[in-house]
Amino acid sequence: MQPKRRVAIIGAGTSGLVACKHLIEKGFDPVVFEAHGTIGGVWSRTFESTKLQTPKQLYQFSDFPWPASVTETFPNHEQMMDYLHSYASHFGILQKIKFNCKVTGIDYVMESGNEQGMTDWKTWSGSGGGRPFSSCGKWNVVVQDTVAACASVEVYQVDFVILCIGMFSDLPKVPEFPFKEGPEAFEGKVLHSMDYAMMDRGLMAALTREKRVTVVGSQKSAIDIAVEVAKRNGSRYPCMLLFKTAHWKIPSSLTAFIFIHLNRFMEFMVHKPGEGFFLWLLAVLLSPLGALFLKLVETYLKWKYPLKKYNIVPDHSLLEQFAFGVTPTLPSNFFHAVEEGSLILKKLPSFHFCHTGLILDGGANSYHPTDVVIFATGYETDEKLKNIFSSNYFQKCLAGTSYPLYRECIHPRIPQLAILGYADSPSVLYTTEMRSKWLVQFLTGQFELPTIREMEDEARKWERWMRRHARDKYKRYRVSVMLQIYCNDQLCQDMRCNPRRKNSLLAELFASYGPSDYQNLTPES
Ligand SMILES: Cc1cc2nc3c(=O)[nH]c(=O)nc-3n(C[C@H](O)[C@H](O)[C@H](O)COP(=O)(O)OP(=O)(O)OC[C@H]3O[C@@H](n4cnc5c(N)ncnc54)[C@H](O)[C@@H]3O)c2cc1C
Repeated sequence: MQPKRRVAIIGAGTSGLVACKHLIEKGFDPVVFEAHGTIGGVWSRTFESTKLQTPKQLYQFSDFPWPASVTETFPNHEQMMDYLHSYASHFGILQKIKFNCKVTGIDYVMESGNEQGMTDWKTWSGSGGGRPFSSCGKWNVVVQDTVAACASVEVYQVDFVILCIGMFSDLPKVPEFPFKEGPEAFEGKVLHSMDYAMMDRGLMAALTREKRVTVVGSQKSAIDIAVEVAKRNGSRYPCMLLFKTAHWKIPSSLTAFIFIHLNRFMEFMVHKPGEGFFLWLLAVLLSPLGALFLKLVETYLKWKYPLKKYNIVPDHSLLEQFAFGVTPTLPSNFFHAVEEGSLILKKLPSFHFCHTGLILDGGANSYHPTDVVIFATGYETDEKLKNIFSSNYFQKCLAGTSYPLYRECIHPRIPQLAILGYADSPSVLYTTEMRSKWLVQFLTGQFELPTIREMEDEARKWERWMRRHARDKYKRYRVSVMLQIYCNDQLCQDMRCNPRRKNSLLAELFASYGPSDYQNLTPES
């Protein structure tokens, strides 16, 4: 009889929860290590105004819809936490979680040989057939209790690790400044949006009330914090939003419209990596239609918002933006705050600190007095992932390659380990749940992985495709909004499940696709 395989999940955010649920369902007994005292990850530590920017139909578990009591299309973070709690209790996930247990490192312990030998492996995990488990080694997971006074450390040995540590937390990214021109030169308060999100509501308000606040960044967190502060302080203490690049921002109604209508026909308009003649021809014939639609959306946005007036017309097309990043949803009161003077928009290539404020664009006359600077400038996602591995070999595996993960969750050269939640997409939960389903089918032996060379070739193909669309803004951890269904088709084919989830050709082409379409994925015999 096969020994029972031990699987560890690191992180109990949405990714860890959904991975755990699917493992339990297939008879595994996973252990989940969570550094904090609660589930939910980013949703448990965020600022007051945070809401989903993905319509809830797309951001829900395939077999666990939002309750009828949540009528909003974009629920807020408190509703999200309630939803996640119900999911975790309904599927018996909570019992599997070890809270306040931070994984400080993971170490692959080989039965024989050393890491150098791994470079000769032809198949994943050296298992001979691209199978999940291997007799070559196991992972040691080093866990530190974050609340016990003595900070005890325990080591767990497991056959497989699923990393669900999240892309948007823990290791903030802040711009670098020349010596004596950075935050050290400034007498005011400087913090990252991560620290702001962790504060309690009273502290957040006290920190920014009647203060001259500058928020640096152009993505969703920056926008939300700036609007929150502008609302609090009004035009007497206007908040400045400082950014390098203007991005397209769309109203939530349009986001909902686009996301809810993502269908196969729309994806035919987009070229695909390694496409055959038929898909190529369809893309050639239909892509002008897609480009026209997005041009119309751009025109609408320029008409609806005073982008020219505030010099924030993006330099790139909406098509390009869809390829390289998630398009932030604009709070309805954003331009109202700008027009009434409580929010100042400043697009600048650079700035630095002085004793009592900021020097904008390096110019002598552009002094901007400031009390508080909040960097909403993202996270060091690559570093965070690398840091969890104790060995240089695996750190190098992640640092040295620029191509995306195979099926957005497997590194061809890191054995017995999967990474979930590192595929930023219009709905991370949907993307992660699909990969959890795929992963669990893999762990139960429903299919095997191709050779390492084949996986690397496939990942490179995706890299080339992403670079062609996103150009210099290429990010490896991204699932294009334009190819969600195509990616799901690939996962279904691996799992030997029917990728066509609708019951008529017309619906297959024109009805929207979402998580609930993949509720009962059963391999075909
Ligand atoms: C403000 C904000 C708004 C967002 N809005 C949307 C949206 O509208 N739509 C969308 O699709 N996505 C959105 N996202 C992205 C969001 O991050 C994902 O949707 C999703 O919640 C990520 O879940 P996760 O479990 O992968 O990561 P996280 O939520 O970051 O969870 C990771 C968990 O792992 C734990 N952990 C990390 N390291 C360790 C360790 N070493 N040991 C033990 N535990 C560890 C953390 O404590 C955390 O609980 C938003 C993100 C933010 C910050």
